[in-house]
Amino acid sequence: MIIKIQVSKTLQAKIQKGHPWVFDYQILGQTPEEGKPGDLGIIYTSKNKFLAIGFYDPFSDIRLRILQWGTPLNIDAGFFKDRLQTAVALRKPLEKKGTSGYRVINGENDGFPGMVLDRYEDTAVLKLYTAAWVPYMDEFLGALANTLQVKRCVLRLSRNCRSTVEEISSFEEGQILFGSTLDSNICFRENGLFFEVDVFAGQKTGFFLDQRENRQRIRSLAKDKSVLNVFSYTGGFSVYAFAGKCKSVWEIDSSPLALKTSRENFELNSPGTESGEKDFQQIEGDAFSALRQLRDRKISFDIVILDPPAFAVKKKQKPKALATYRRLAESGARLTRPGGLLFAASCSRQISAEEFFFEVTSGIRSAGKTFQEIDRTGHALDHPVSFKGAEYLKGIYLEISEGRKGTH
Ligand code: SAH
Repeated sequence: MIIKIQVSKTLQAKIQKGHPWVFDYQILGQTPEEGKPGDLGIIYTSKNKFLAIGFYDPFSDIRLRILQWGTPLNIDAGFFKDRLQTAVALRKPLEKKGTSGYRVINGENDGFPGMVLDRYEDTAVLKLYTAAWVPYMDEFLGALANTLQVKRCVLRLSRNCRSTVEEISSFEEGQILFGSTLDSNICFRENGLFFEVDVFAGQKTGFFLDQRENRQRIRSLAKDKSVLNVFSYTGGFSVYAFAGKCKSVWEIDSSPLALKTSRENFELNSPGTESGEKDFQQIEGDAFSALRQLRDRKISFDIVILDPPAFAVKKKQKPKALATYRRLAESGARLTRPGGLLFAASCSRQISAEEFFFEVTSGIRSAGKTFQEIDRTGHALDHPVSFKGAEYLKGIYLEISEGRKGTH
């Protein structure tokens, strides 16, 4: 079925500039009732000119996800294949850098709204954020198998669409969509280093591929340094720090499974070295109380990494999230040695880079320290950004110094 969707002139103008979403409350006139996930929705301009076509999903707040602007096109296997080829070509340079784990499809930004596809060596992990993809799965998977050299594809379903997908189809979370089964973790390479990933139980698709360039940067700065990796997950930053010949790494994370995988990742990259032989320590628990305890113990570090989960997913969480980023930067700065480095990142969509950097620097001042900004970073090439609002990752590197009385 094709559903005609009416939106305000203001939204039409936004869409014309590449905005890819129509929320339920933005649809004017009668909301089509009988639409199913994956029906096509068409938007015309007020002058009845074709504006855009997309996937309709009556079970999602994002009622329409735009696939094509300006000129009508058939949404079929050829359409998916063209877009996939473009996406794969964009990532080619990564393979030359010893990287076999990267994002192949970054949702809307690669022309596949509501979908992420990550590759780990010869396994693809497809994560859906809308049930609208269900009727197109055969065509999409055909295009995928023809374009990307992988042995299998695993399906992951976001919390928002899982029940709908499982209700309207036989697809289910963790299913192998094609290829052989998998009974162990996958090992892949990133900048020549090895990582294990659990694509069934791991967070997101199993690994935070978006921090690759920041990890590489930490590697280049780590020599002889003591490193505190807060929110360490499976040890991405830690493995890079050891590869950069750091003196020690202490990790903090609340997930025992993540910490266990981190030890395995350490061993994978230092064959013959038990993690116990190096100064590699793990603190399992809440980061905020662990940071307080380290402060009480008067322990400090040359490099402090703060890479927490998103604190603001919804708009109403924003004020609390801003305060939390500030508090975290304050605690991190207190544990950074004079002349040391603080790296702070945020993956909250609701918080802009400027807002985040403001909170981080305010937090450092509240700790009674001064700072010199070294750099700010954003998205890597496998996480392209094609519209306003798609940007979520921001990072800042700061050299921390003791504050002089009256300077902050
Ligand atoms: N830096 C990591 C990714 C971090 S993801 C990397 O490069 O791979 C966020 C991590 O924070 C997860 O591992 C999660 O288990 C952990 N986490 C969430 N809330 C926490 C808390 N309050 N205290 C400690 N860890 C927490």
